[in-house]
Formats: sequence, C-alpha cells, structure tokens
Amino acid sequence: MPMVTIPAGQVAAGHLPPVCARHGEQATAMKKVNLFSKPPAWAAVLIIAGVLPYLIVVMALRKTVKAPAWPWCAKCTAQRTRNLLIGLGLIVLAFVLIVVFASAQSDAAALGLLLAFVAFLAGIIVATRSSTQAVTGAFVSKDGNLVEVAKADERFAYVLSHPGARL
Ligand SMILES: [Zn+2]
Repeated sequence: MPMVTIPAGQVAAGHLPPVCARHGEQATAMKKVNLFSKPPAWAAVLIIAGVLPYLIVVMALRKTVKAPAWPWCAKCTAQRTRNLLIGLGLIVLAFVLIVVFASAQSDAAALGLLLAFVAFLAGIIVATRSSTQAVTGAFVSKDGNLVEVAKADERFAYVLSHPGARL
C-alpha cells in the first residue's frame, strides 16, 4: 500500500483518474468532497482546556482542498453504509441499555450505564468513519500543498503516474 501524494491544485481542478484511490476499483462516481488536514498531534493537549478551545485551534490550522471530482467506487459506498449502520446500531444499543438499566435497582445499573456510555462513544466514532473524507482516506498535508492518501491502492498509484493508462 504505497503512500500517494497529489498536488492540491490537481485535486482542486478535478484532474484525477476514474479509479478509487483506496480500493483501486473503477470509480462509479466522481464525488464532490471537501478534504481537510489532520489536526496536529499537540492540539489534543488542548482538549484539557475544553472542547471549544480545541475546536477553535483545529479549525484555524485546518487546510482545506475542495475536490470537485474525487473517484468513488462501489466498495466506498459499501464501507460507508456498513460504518453508518454499525455506528447507529451501537447508539441505539446504548439507548436500550439506558432504558433497561435506568430502572434497575442494583450494582448492575452502574455497570449497565457504563456499558451504555461505551457503546454510545464507540457508535459515534464508527459513525464518523462513514463520512466521505474518512472513506476516501485522503488528507491535506499540513502546508496545504498536497493531498495525501496514506494507504493508496497500487492500481490508483499506477494510473495516477501514468496518465492515459487504463486498469
Ligand atoms: Zn473505493
């Protein structure tokens, strides 16, 4: 799985091969997607100061590349649906646990509510992974000049570096 970097300008111009970067499959759609940079690791420390300062700093540092036509394949759609369903399933499970254990009169109640909390958090995390950018696996570099696909498919890497080539 090579790391592939594409100039941000090329992505913003929509000059990408119709091959999924992540799965190497023929694209079923060229999607409009906003790609962002990852928050710097040190920003996590700001969580201690609160969610709001963290968000403000992360948003201020964030680099965006608007891709008008990012290759999207059938596997991308399947991955998004699966993550969304698992995520929502865990959130529903959390609420069921709350309803069941909220009326329980014992130590089981505390354990049940803890489980509900864990299921809820896990559900949010999995559901977030169904976002378009999460599925593409593409991130903007810190300086905003490149779009990086950390685990690109070999076929995408090949077609990208050989314009005009076909799968
Ligand atoms: Zn795909």
